[in-house]
Amino acid sequence: MVREIRLTPHYQNVFVKRRKVDTECRVFQEKWTQYYLFTEVNTKPVCLVCNQQVSVLKEYNIRRHYETHHEEKYHHLQGQLRKEKINELLTGLKKQQSAFTRSREVSDAAVKASYLIANELVQASKPFSDGEFVKTCMLKAAEVVYPEKRPAFAYISLSRNTVADRVEDLSGDLGRQMNDKIKSFIAFSVAIDESTDVTDVAQLAIFIRGVDETLTITEEFLELVPMKDTTTANDIFSSLIRVLDKAGVDWSRAVSLATDGAPSMVGRKGRKKVVTQYYENIRSFKLKLSLWETQLSNGDTSHFPCLTAMHVTGLNADLDQYKDKITGLLQEFERRFQIFSEPENEFAFFRSPFTVKASDMPADIQLAM
Ligand SMILES: [Zn+2]
Repeated sequence: MVREIRLTPHYQNVFVKRRKVDTECRVFQEKWTQYYLFTEVNTKPVCLVCNQQVSVLKEYNIRRHYETHHEEKYHHLQGQLRKEKINELLTGLKKQQSAFTRSREVSDAAVKASYLIANELVQASKPFSDGEFVKTCMLKAAEVVYPEKRPAFAYISLSRNTVADRVEDLSGDLGRQMNDKIKSFIAFSVAIDESTDVTDVAQLAIFIRGVDETLTITEEFLELVPMKDTTTANDIFSSLIRVLDKAGVDWSRAVSLATDGAPSMVGRKGRKKVVTQYYENIRSFKLKLSLWETQLSNGDTSHFPCLTAMHVTGLNADLDQYKDKITGLLQEFERRFQIFSEPENEFAFFRSPFTVKASDMPADIQLAM
């Protein structure tokens, strides 16, 4: 049978008070220093004698620690003697803490320095093992220039393994930054360039070039794929897909693939044809850009649905900034594809051989006409 316990008002009051102390008033009380030789560090009670932390900020736990471990030795210290002992213990703790903070600062700086030096080694294409040599030099210099700071330099780890770890971290971070950038592309194109390295191995360099919604253009080198004699167009294609998937591209935003005519990609005979087709694409895109430029400068936003919507609601009446972006793109295009303006007539011949004037053609082609 459950019996109901009724508390008298006095006990009710005590009960409420106790609960309050338990749940709300977990605040370190000054007198605990005097009673139990405790102080507060980062809101945690710490024993001044053994520096142990008590996890619960409750008088019961603190008192128990004191009674179990230190009461026997310290209970006789009372009055002025106890105060002096407490001050001595507090000073010791403070010293220890500032030494701890200092050593943490030194080690943070040492870690940072090892990242910076690892980065320098990579930038200069040095082997990871050169880190040890750099450290030796650094210590020699420190001994002469700043002998008392030598330990701080000795703390910088530049062993081969550390350098390798740092470089891996750094490149992982770069990779993450690049993936973030690539995710922001609203359109991108891929360029592949075949070249041969010093050991005569053909390499396929894969670049991505994209534009984000602020019309900022970014070009990044993605990967170098070695090619053997037996490498086929299919192999290249699957490498390309793998590299781009790894970079996390959104395939629906792919605009074009450009090559310098990697033979295995386009076939040697088809090369000229591919170039002229590219030239056509560039030319038509340039025309489109000029059209947009003119329209925007006349306040016509009909080719930009989002801009039209903003324009109608009067959110952004300043079309000039968008026109300037288009002008910038156009100039960038002119600059990038300058090379095409020279053989333009030659391309015209391939495009429509019956409408070009023979006199506009280079001499070797004139004879062929
Ligand atoms: Zn203790």
